[in-house]
Amino acid sequence: MIVTEKKKIEDILEKIRDCKKIVIFGCGDCATLCKTGGKDEVEELKKILEDNEKQVVYTSVIDISCDERIVKKELKNLPEYDCIISLSCGTGTQTVGDIIEKPVFSGLDSKYAGSTRRIGHFTEKCSLCGECIINDFGGICPITRCSKHLLNGPCGGSVDGKCEVGDKDCAWVLIYKRMKKQGREKELLQYRKPKNWK
Ligand code: SF4
Ligand code: SF4
Repeated sequence: MIVTEKKKIEDILEKIRDCKKIVIFGCGDCATLCKTGGKDEVEELKKILEDNEKQVVYTSVIDISCDERIVKKELKNLPEYDCIISLSCGTGTQTVGDIIEKPVFSGLDSKYAGSTRRIGHFTEKCSLCGECIINDFGGICPITRCSKHLLNGPCGGSVDGKCEVGDKDCAWVLIYKRMKKQGREKELLQYRKPKNWK
């Protein structure tokens, strides 16, 4: 699940200031579950744009915005328009933008890959870093879940299992407990070299 948040409406309006006829696309997958790009949010944005003297000529919630095959079909019969606003993650917005030549603006900020606790509530789990190293940390990601992204933690700010940055569990306490439960805590004594960010 790619977790997204709505951009400020002022920022969107500024980007589309020269556009009169607008198409709005939502995404039926992650953005719908996040309540940022489903049917209701598309309607909400449409109303705001119309109140700001824009003409919304077409709206649709694409089943999966990051699937080129589906997006291509969706783009086939659009009426005349000046730009598209995409209520999906950066991948979905780029999928649309790589197919057409007119401007495509994202209405959302992509935050992280997370797990769903309940609809609209997510837990940050992965930053899509390219080289997954959780096998060395009991399956818990220190890059995403430790506020300082430490590979050789914990830092000195961990108190009673809580992180000193924000109201959350210290990832390194979670990692230690998980590794200990699996009888693997000694593996954590090995120095972990800086990650290969390539
Ligand atoms: S190490 Fe963490 S951020 Fe990187 S891919 Fe694995 S879970 Fe995602
Ligand atoms: S308290 Fe724990 S989670 Fe927070 S920054 Fe330090 S090691 Fe990372």
